[in-house]
Amino acid sequence: MSIYLDHAATTYVDKKVLDKMMECYTDTFGNASSQHGYGRDADKGVIAARAAVASAIGASPGEIYFTSGGTESDNWAIKGVAKFAKKGHIITSRIEHRAVLDTCKYLETKGFSVTYLPVDEYGRVSPGDVEDALQSDTILISIMFANNEVGTIMPVAQIGEIAKKHGVLFHTDAVQAVGHIPIDVAAQGFDLLSLSAHKFYGPKGVGALYIKKGTDIAKLIHGGSHERGKRAGTLNSPGIVGLGAAISLAAETMDKEYKNESALAKRLKEGLLAFPKTKYNGHPTERLPGNVNISFAGIEAEALMLHLDLLGIAVSTGSACSSGSNSPSYVLKEMGCNTEQARAAVRFTIGRRNTAKEIDTVIKKTKGIVDNLRSLSPLFADKGEN
Ligand code: PLP
Repeated sequence: MSIYLDHAATTYVDKKVLDKMMECYTDTFGNASSQHGYGRDADKGVIAARAAVASAIGASPGEIYFTSGGTESDNWAIKGVAKFAKKGHIITSRIEHRAVLDTCKYLETKGFSVTYLPVDEYGRVSPGDVEDALQSDTILISIMFANNEVGTIMPVAQIGEIAKKHGVLFHTDAVQAVGHIPIDVAAQGFDLLSLSAHKFYGPKGVGALYIKKGTDIAKLIHGGSHERGKRAGTLNSPGIVGLGAAISLAAETMDKEYKNESALAKRLKEGLLAFPKTKYNGHPTERLPGNVNISFAGIEAEALMLHLDLLGIAVSTGSACSSGSNSPSYVLKEMGCNTEQARAAVRFTIGRRNTAKEIDTVIKKTKGIVDNLRSLSPLFADKGEN
């Protein structure tokens, strides 16, 4: 048995995407900057991919810059704005991905000031708090589109209006959202947006940063004059073509996938919440369609995950980037969970290939493991909870 329910960590590469990439490795393998036919052929693929990414988020192709993924895009957006401004204040949330939080922490060591906004019990930042946190020297607001652990979607359009009203740049880490829910950079008021191909059936190690025309941002990577002089390095043309193909495919299938994933997530949620002493984490409606995050009282999520893994079922505890750290999820703690609830939380993230039959199997197997672990847990028994 093998059931993959960890699509927020990464996805497989869709066969149609892979086929397009393979051509770039073997046939159109030229350096996209070269002046000869091989170069021009590779560049054609890059041009098409740039147009596909732009069209998927309502941008112009000239506003798309290819990067090595979400982490680089986040670093570039935040450090690039900070470096250009030389000093100032940044607003972010306490439940951002480490790629944003650690970048902000780094900038604090360089003399910038940062406000880390709290979130409510569902993981949402209040737009009013964003407005109240603005200072005369605020240079950037960076609030994620959707959270990677609980799938909560932030009120980004309202924050975008506030940013615009006050003339402050607005960056969003949309790594979990792109390819899954509709995004329009103009309507939602973004100046900068990070995305990453491996979260929507594209390859790992390639992403993009949307930079609205006219945005003041410094370079992160120095070298050649690639990407209109803004991001040096030979273009990863097979990866970029894969990103373009994956984002086009996601746009075509988004409605269908959304319905499918939501239905499976509902089935999984209802099946798991039927167990006693469970808690649903995240927003009831404003969330990514495939995310189900549940705390099972009396259970160490790590133990549940390992038992499921032995059965060939892949889930996760928190985000892949902080796994192994053994500390309870900071995201859940910021949402008001106590340490026990945070340690007991498992993230199930559904994707394109999952079926109702798989979901039923996961519910059944999880129940068996939870019952067993609880029966062995003196803590759970002492509380008279089984
Ligand atoms: N931001 C969020 C919200 C993510 O979920 C991730 C990956 O898990 C990243 C950034 C980092 O993206 P990448 O893996 O492409 O570096």
